[in-house]
Amino acid sequence: MIGAGFGVVVVLLIAMTVVTMVRLERIQLLVAEINTQHSKHVQFAHRMYHAARERSYVLVKLVHEDDALVADDYAMRFWALGNEVAQTRRLLIKETLTPEEHALLGEQARATELTVPLQERVIELNGAQRRRDAMMILTDQALPAQEGVLSALTAFIALKNRQIERASLEASEQVRSAQVVLFSAMLLTVLASLAIGFYVQRNMSRMMRGLTDKTWQLNVSLRDLDFQKQALDEHAIVSIADPQGRITYVNDKFCAVSQYAREELIGRDHRIINSGQHPPSMFVDMWRMIASGATWQGEVCNRKKDGSLYWVSTTILPFLNAAGRPEHYISVRTDITSIKMAEMMLESNQERLEELVAQRTAELAEREAAFQRLSETDMLTGVANRRKFDETLLIETSRAQRHGLSLMLVMLDIDHFKKLNDTYGHQVGDSVLVEFAQRLASHIRAHDFLARWGGEEFAVLATLNDSEDPRQFADKLRALIAANEFSVVGHVTASLGLSIYRPDEDIDALLSRADKALYAAKANGRNRVEVTP
Ligand code: GH3
Ligand code: MG
Ligand code: MG
Repeated sequence: MIGAGFGVVVVLLIAMTVVTMVRLERIQLLVAEINTQHSKHVQFAHRMYHAARERSYVLVKLVHEDDALVADDYAMRFWALGNEVAQTRRLLIKETLTPEEHALLGEQARATELTVPLQERVIELNGAQRRRDAMMILTDQALPAQEGVLSALTAFIALKNRQIERASLEASEQVRSAQVVLFSAMLLTVLASLAIGFYVQRNMSRMMRGLTDKTWQLNVSLRDLDFQKQALDEHAIVSIADPQGRITYVNDKFCAVSQYAREELIGRDHRIINSGQHPPSMFVDMWRMIASGATWQGEVCNRKKDGSLYWVSTTILPFLNAAGRPEHYISVRTDITSIKMAEMMLESNQERLEELVAQRTAELAEREAAFQRLSETDMLTGVANRRKFDETLLIETSRAQRHGLSLMLVMLDIDHFKKLNDTYGHQVGDSVLVEFAQRLASHIRAHDFLARWGGEEFAVLATLNDSEDPRQFADKLRALIAANEFSVVGHVTASLGLSIYRPDEDIDALLSRADKALYAAKANGRNRVEVTP
């Protein structure tokens, strides 16, 4: 805007100068024309006019002169003036003249042609002493004819004067218009300068106000920044590195934590504090990331000058230049060593805890298994107890039903056991129970099942194939007991009740049939096997 304003002023000044110069040129031409052309012409005309008038005057004197010698002088003077008129006219006619001027000079020439012979006739008559005739021709013819010459010249001079007047008028007109142009241009220039000045002044004051505001804001921002830097320095470990990774700045906290002096760090790269705790690939990835302009964040373990380790939570910000390439890297770190230590402690405690839990769980499982075993085992004989028997009976009957197997239940009851107890005592009775169970356990097959039903009663579950005879199987068990003596008490027998599982049969019904068979075995004389129909 200011530039445009000044441009306008300069253009106005140039235009003003050009117009004024053109006007001045024109005025100069006009003045020159007046001075050189018109003035010269008027001079010539005047000279001719005066010479012509003097000629008539000399002629009048000559006619009235009595002295012949003086009259001769007048004649000489008359001819000289004639020459002057003719010479001046030749000079004038050579000038650039208008047709009107030429016409007037032609008129003068014609009048001269009429006048000169009359004047010569006057001189001739006067020379012939005919003064009276000479005076008559002079006054009656020559002088009036001379008037024609003078009036033509007077008209020429008047014409010239008019032309001079016109040229002068035009010149003064030009001067006036040049003055108007000059004045207008000056006025415009002054007004434009004033407008620019006003505009500049207004803008300058606005700019100054803006500048003051900006400066104030800048100062506030600077103070804030300073405060933020102080807060950052107070809290964080800060370093700046160039694109090659060389350290260019470290704050006091960096020096304090790493134990290195600032001079030992500047110009070096961060490998000086490398702890060797991280795989090199971590730093390769980190450099790839920050070199591409992205921010990197991570936890890094560094080494102090004394060799001890410290942990920092690190953020690396690449500072990009106008081309988008990192100009330098700013690293802001927080010391998290204590957190890391606590974490590690927690981790090791956790591991220890997990170990303990696993150990305890194994122990518990073992105990549970033992408990399970105990809960399923008869304490005296070590074979399965009634609880386990009920469970197994349920499983085996449904399995037999599913696969169509032949399942046999044998109930064994020691004969007259009460008498044994009575005779040998309860302890011996117990040992008989133990031996009884052992004989059965060592005889039955792996897939058969033996349990103490209760008291001196036992039960065997056995799956038989088609070729096996259930009664024979049961009888072998009976013989196992009866054939060999027991320690202390000698012969012991048992009665056996046998029932074969029928598909869809109720467990209680199966048990009840075996019980009935046992009852029958007892009733039929003991030491025998009975089968329910
Ligand atoms: P039967 O030939 O008719 O079976 O006569 P029994 O004497 O064997 O039958 P009874 O039911 O009259 O007697 C069973 C006895 O077994 C009664 C009880 O004291 C004894 N008894 C039960 N459990 C145990 C035990 O754990 N140890 C000992 N020593 N005796 C037991
Ligand atoms: Mg009994
Ligand atoms: Mg009995």
